[in-house]
Amino acid sequence: MQNTRVDSTGKRILNFSAGPGLMPQSVLETAAAEMLNFSQGHSLMELSHRSGVFEGVLAETEAAFRRLLSIPSNYKVLFSQGGATTQFSMAPLNLAGSDKAKKVDYIVTGAWSSKAAEEAARLIGKDRVNTVLSTKKSNHNGDIPQLNDWSFSKDPAYVFYCDNETVHGVEFKDKFPFHLVPANVPIVCDMSSNILSTPVDVSKFGVIFAGAQKNMGPAGITVTIVREDLLAPQYKYSGSPIPLLLDFNSYSAHDSMLNTPPTFPIYICGLIFKWLEKDIGGLSQMAAINAQKADLLYSTIESSNGFYSCPVAKPYRSRMNVPFLVKGGKGGALETLFLKEAEEKGMIQLAGHRSVGGIRASLYNAMPLDGVQVLVDFMKEF
Ligand code: PMP
Repeated sequence: MQNTRVDSTGKRILNFSAGPGLMPQSVLETAAAEMLNFSQGHSLMELSHRSGVFEGVLAETEAAFRRLLSIPSNYKVLFSQGGATTQFSMAPLNLAGSDKAKKVDYIVTGAWSSKAAEEAARLIGKDRVNTVLSTKKSNHNGDIPQLNDWSFSKDPAYVFYCDNETVHGVEFKDKFPFHLVPANVPIVCDMSSNILSTPVDVSKFGVIFAGAQKNMGPAGITVTIVREDLLAPQYKYSGSPIPLLLDFNSYSAHDSMLNTPPTFPIYICGLIFKWLEKDIGGLSQMAAINAQKADLLYSTIESSNGFYSCPVAKPYRSRMNVPFLVKGGKGGALETLFLKEAEEKGMIQLAGHRSVGGIRASLYNAMPLDGVQVLVDFMKEF
């Protein structure tokens, strides 16, 4: 796994962006080499989505994705546009059903699950949305309330959560309490910022979705994994017609080609899936590398005698997005100096999300361990 990106002066650049994020260098090199001639003198971007060549790319991309996550055969894989935000609308429209008495349960642990809950309330009505964790209780600071403070509704249409809150750096990983959700209630999970970072037992979920632009590919494509039985009509929200392109069934029935799919992003995702399989050796290997990277950064923060601090409770610290503060706090003089000096040394996009401030280092799959080493060396020196 190498990343030797340089700017025009030859300085090594390390991109800690939260997304669109760093891509594997070999993927970009392959895409560049194939840009003008993917097949018979054409760029892939110039080929019909109905061509045999593109159909082959789509089929291989889906097959590699299925292999990586060991997706069971009773799940469909859908490729769509509109980002994860569109999935915030699609979840209630496709799964809230017709029973007005049934709630949909949202576990709000940060900015993205909060937005998802708001969109559900807007589409199917506030009274149908139950917030399992109040945003106040979870205080958006990574301190997830005790399980006995979680208030699920009785027999909800589905339970929604976000496995990794990109802005707040809160990640459930293997700590999500599946046992609290009754077996017949589908779990809908936003994995936009940690998908493919570690193996996942897909069979525990009704729906998993992820915008690609962190661990999977470029912006412009979203991947959704849906358990087949959830495509049945009784799960659809009956309060309004579902726009064609917001209906899971439109994608499922037409193999993601009801209309023109994002052909180039699908191809890049396919290259990333191949990179994960062949260069990295699969998701267990990827998870081991990701754990090493996160451990290196968190242990540097912890051993700084309070000069650096991370606001997130230890069990829920994200391996992908590491928010931290420099002595003096948010927006302080040292923070400004830290960001300036880091950038001078080629470490870019380290500022925290505009809504929370501070520093945030995103360590997606494509960030190599030696890149994190450069960051922690700088942190120690600073
Ligand atoms: N969910 C999560 C966890 C995210 O990180 C993001 C984007 N940063 C979104 C949803 C929204 O994604 P998009 O911009 O693709 O709609």
